[in-house]
Amino acid sequence: MLHPTSGCASARSAFCPCSRCDLLLGLDGVHVEHVERGDEVLVVTVSSPATPAGCPSCGVVAVGRGRRQRLLHDVPGATRVLIVWRQRVWRCSDAECLRKTFVEQLPTLVPRRGSITKRAVAWAIGQLRREHATIAGLARQLGTSWKTVWRAVEPELVRLAADESRFEGVTTLGVDEHVWHHVDPRTRGPKELTGMVDLTRDEHGNTRARLLDLVPGRSGKAYASWLGERGESFRRNVQVAALDPFAGYKTAIDDKLQDATAVLDAFHVVKLGTAAVDEVRRRVQQDTLGHRGRKGDPLYGIQTILRAGAENLTDKQRARLTTAIEVDPVHDEVFVAWQCAQQLRSAYHQKDLADGRRIAEKIVESFHTCPIPEIARLGRTLRRWRSAFLAYFTTSRANNGGTEAVNGIIELHRRLARGYRNRNNYRLRMLLAAGGLTP
Ligand SMILES: [Zn+2]
Repeated sequence: MLHPTSGCASARSAFCPCSRCDLLLGLDGVHVEHVERGDEVLVVTVSSPATPAGCPSCGVVAVGRGRRQRLLHDVPGATRVLIVWRQRVWRCSDAECLRKTFVEQLPTLVPRRGSITKRAVAWAIGQLRREHATIAGLARQLGTSWKTVWRAVEPELVRLAADESRFEGVTTLGVDEHVWHHVDPRTRGPKELTGMVDLTRDEHGNTRARLLDLVPGRSGKAYASWLGERGESFRRNVQVAALDPFAGYKTAIDDKLQDATAVLDAFHVVKLGTAAVDEVRRRVQQDTLGHRGRKGDPLYGIQTILRAGAENLTDKQRARLTTAIEVDPVHDEVFVAWQCAQQLRSAYHQKDLADGRRIAEKIVESFHTCPIPEIARLGRTLRRWRSAFLAYFTTSRANNGGTEAVNGIIELHRRLARGYRNRNNYRLRMLLAAGGLTP
């Protein structure tokens, strides 16, 4: 018999009556009978205090029929911890009763058929949520199998995910999609998942993005039906709905969130501008040289400079840009396109939102008439999205950035787990990792 600390006088007896052991162990409803420290495992024998038990079938007071040992995995410390629970077995004293014998249950200690203590399940969930743990890693620490850990954790995650109160208080909503597998969709379903993210700001104006749900497919329909399932009060509460330029999501917002303002994500708008410059550069290059850009071509040499914000360019980069443009008068077209993209960027970079909005409105009024076809097309896109594009400036910079942050967490956890085969498991794990199950 080894005592967990040195304080107990009866450390050599088989039964330690001190309450410190129980306190140190901290398990509800049982006291410590015995502690044994092995090389890699601490074995703690526990049992419940004797109390009369009634037969669960007929209620007649039962008589004890001894004990049986049940092995439970507990929260590991320096070593693994194995709990030996001397579970009481009872016999119904009514000879007529069909029950015959039954076994003591302590739901505060462990679920009926579980082999991981209740607090170890809570610990495991905390590790998954905050410490980037994997099920395989937890199984190693607990000294059990992947399947055993997941079977213990899953019902708790299902319960948390089903709790509709986690959707309360959402006033800003983001939506985005990602690819979650690369195998045949006939075996694993759609490769894309649409994710809904809570982007509501706190009292300090900060967003702590929280993944609310993942549904199969990348379509307005997937988003719309999820919104439909949330109920009237949720939908009425949403004031701002951020999105990337994908018409399907816009339709869903217009249909289901009539009171909300749709906001086109700033990052994606800027990206459209950068992409337009890139297209112009490639076209001009092809027209003048008759081949795709390669090392030594003046426009090819400035492709990264063209993608950067003008305010971030060094003097040397500016000089390289000027040189490359001045080599050939037809390169002016690239320069004009670049200035258009910079103008688009500058709308978002204004300190005063009213100034930003003025620039954005000018863009909507002018870009579509631009003689450069790529810029004209960008202009038409922005006209089509006019209200959602301009809404950024009236919603104090609402954007989908938090959704991208959540996607980063999702990617990290997908890599940690080395991929997922089961979409339900994937959804639960990602909800847990990306804050969706925190009340
Ligand atoms: Zn009975």
